[in-house]
Amino acid sequence: MRFHVLTLFPQILDGLNTSITGRALDKGVLSVNAVNIRDFTNSKHLKVDDYPYGGGAGLVMQAQPVCDAYDSIIESIGKKPRVVYMTPQGHTFNQKMAQDFAKEDDLVILCGHYEGIDERALNLIVTDYVSIGDYVLTGGELPAMVMIDAISRLVPGVLNNEESARTESFCDGLLEYPQYSRPYEYKGMKVPDVLLSGNHGKVDEWRHEQSLERTKKIRPDLYERYVKEHPEEFETGSGKNNLRRNVDET
Ligand code: SAM
Repeated sequence: MRFHVLTLFPQILDGLNTSITGRALDKGVLSVNAVNIRDFTNSKHLKVDDYPYGGGAGLVMQAQPVCDAYDSIIESIGKKPRVVYMTPQGHTFNQKMAQDFAKEDDLVILCGHYEGIDERALNLIVTDYVSIGDYVLTGGELPAMVMIDAISRLVPGVLNNEESARTESFCDGLLEYPQYSRPYEYKGMKVPDVLLSGNHGKVDEWRHEQSLERTKKIRPDLYERYVKEHPEEFETGSGKNNLRRNVDET
């Protein structure tokens, strides 16, 4: 998958060159093409921002360099890809959106700075408005990296163990179960015996119960949605599914 990041501060993206994303970039499974918007300004003084019409604090990134930088991407890849503008005014990023974006071969991510970007540039090029949460950061580069990281883990070949991307929190609508590693006993606390039983069915059942329990406690909103979407699991009475439970029992 190829990410094209429109930014005034391409060096911030260097953080992706480490760990799992770094390895995927080395392998060529991913690429991050950081396009410096400043390289496309028509201004003699390399200006890319100006005061907002109507007054007010701060500076606004101008439309011309943003749109010309975007055109350079279209020219190099020969098609019009989706363009995500990182903005606190967007839809809040989640795992489902990561799965959706991971289907793209090319994804353009536009990072604002200062007071943001001239609305006309946004109207011309942006297809998706995405926020990483209800707070305001100084620029879109960290949000872009958050999104790239989450999407990358879903691209085949990025994780060594594809299974982990399928069992992690949010993939099935629940938070993940607790994890343990060696030693068996640490500061008097032992690993739950079922995990040493070698019985995969029992381990899966225990993990699912734990996922339900902690989702209900920590994220009741997710839990309620899960119950609605999996009514068969919560029906009372006998059935083939040995996980059937009464909602009140969990
Ligand atoms: N004036 C803008 C507003 O009130 O909506 C905020 C501008 S912010 C200081 C500068 C840039 O940081 C934005 O253009 C956006 O790219 C990025 N940004 C800030 N907070 C963000 C968030 N929560 N999610 C995604 N991007 C964010």
